[in-house]
Amino acid sequence: MPSTENEFRLFVDGSWRAGGDGSYAVVNPATEELVGRAPEASPADVAAAVDAARAAFETWSRTKPSERAAVLFRVADVLLRRNDDFVPLLQAETGATIRVASSMQVPVAAERFRRYAHGALEPAVSALAPNAVPASPLAAGGLTSAVAARRPVGVVGCITSYNFPIVNLAGKLAPALAMGNTVVAKPAPQDPLGCLKLGEVFEEAGAPPGIFNVVTGSGAATGAALVASPEVDMISFTGSTAVGRRIAADGGPTLKRLLMELGGKGAAVVLEDADLAKAIPAIGSTWAFHSGQICTAPTRALVHRSRYDELVSGLARFAAALPVGDPLLPGTVVGPVISAAHRDRVEAYIAGAVAEGARLVTGGTRKEHATPFPDFPPTGYYVAPTLLADVTPTMTVAREEVFGPVVVVIPFQDDEEAVAIANSTDFGLYDYVFTADTARGYELAARLRSGSVGLNTAQRHPETPFGGFKQSGTGRDGGSYGLHAYSEMQAVVWQS
Ligand code: NAD
Repeated sequence: MPSTENEFRLFVDGSWRAGGDGSYAVVNPATEELVGRAPEASPADVAAAVDAARAAFETWSRTKPSERAAVLFRVADVLLRRNDDFVPLLQAETGATIRVASSMQVPVAAERFRRYAHGALEPAVSALAPNAVPASPLAAGGLTSAVAARRPVGVVGCITSYNFPIVNLAGKLAPALAMGNTVVAKPAPQDPLGCLKLGEVFEEAGAPPGIFNVVTGSGAATGAALVASPEVDMISFTGSTAVGRRIAADGGPTLKRLLMELGGKGAAVVLEDADLAKAIPAIGSTWAFHSGQICTAPTRALVHRSRYDELVSGLARFAAALPVGDPLLPGTVVGPVISAAHRDRVEAYIAGAVAEGARLVTGGTRKEHATPFPDFPPTGYYVAPTLLADVTPTMTVAREEVFGPVVVVIPFQDDEEAVAIANSTDFGLYDYVFTADTARGYELAARLRSGSVGLNTAQRHPETPFGGFKQSGTGRDGGSYGLHAYSEMQAVVWQS
């Protein structure tokens, strides 16, 4: 049984088991009520999941690509069919607005399974030019041929962050399985229930036992056990830069292959000729999309001095018009952040910025939120969409990731200064340029130390390589790049 009375179970080797170390509460960030209890995996549970993935790898890695594609297509179909089971659970555990929960969880995750079902069929072998080699003490001479072939890495530990639980996991699981790897998933402690439930989808789709296992835990130990295991070949991680550093260190002794999608501090560079009707909603997505708990959000608005006042007042109007509150109400745009601890962290950044000299234009902490929000809902972990002006690049709020609905505005004088400020943080995940001159924007993009650059748009393209420069990560996922991330290159050489 996957769950009883809201008590969820671990999914290991195609069957369900209670957590060896009990269970813990998963709380709805809007109502503060219990959503369900997630299993607290013991070290033996993690070892069992890794053993199951290792055993399944022997056969799964040798299946035909068409068979792997068929399994992934079935997973996508079952997930879409079970949409109505998933949406309320995902909404409750993440606190996402109903609009985001219903349009951007199940359909996007299903699309990822579908995309990488096709991915399983992409060529994995490329022929190299023949080489006429003279005889040597090593071997006879002759025409020597070779291929470069992509092979699966092995057992992949997928450790994910909160916000879009099954989407984030599907972005790892689908390409890893398509390439012939097997997976042990470790979802975020805050919203793991949809990921556990994904086990039901794999069961119903008739996936071979052991190719996908899920272990959960309330603390760092469950993920750390995967990182330490010599039987785990690769860690695919999405989360904070601080934990990414820890994983890089802990994975060192076993030389883990690492794919790291880490934090961001996106700069939106607004040039003097920018169309603010494009720039404002894009920057405003930091408030309007999942309460700013988005790694790619344009949280730093860098604006040419000549447009500074106009941008600040435009952003203030945009923020003030956003309905904040109960995520189940269809008109709500800004719901809660994930937990009380995270709300307190975001508020500390806001208070710290004001103490350092920033000007609070709108929003703020619970102390000063009276304008423009008459009141927060009685329960839930809300932060008002907050705009801070007169920020300098050296302030903490301009350098560290807040991961909440907070935008800072920093003026610049010319392109040189804009680039210097944009590149001045430890992060480099996603930057933006707003200009009427797209050729100039394109040239400027090349100077931004950032894995992606949006030109006049916050829209994403799923086939692009996605990942970070600097301390925003290592490796790339997205499209075929994501598929390749889960492969090792093997050379095969022969003489005819
Ligand atoms: P987090 O780093 O606190 O936790 C992420 C995961 O790591 C969780 O599953 C957690 O249990 C696990 N973990 C914690 N300590 C560990 C350890 N020592 N060993 C192994 N696993 C460990 O991140 P979070 O608070 O869940 O998510 C927010 C962060 O995620 C932000 O920094 C955000 O930018 C980042 N993020 C990045 C992307 C991206 O694609 N670049 C996407 C979403 C979120």
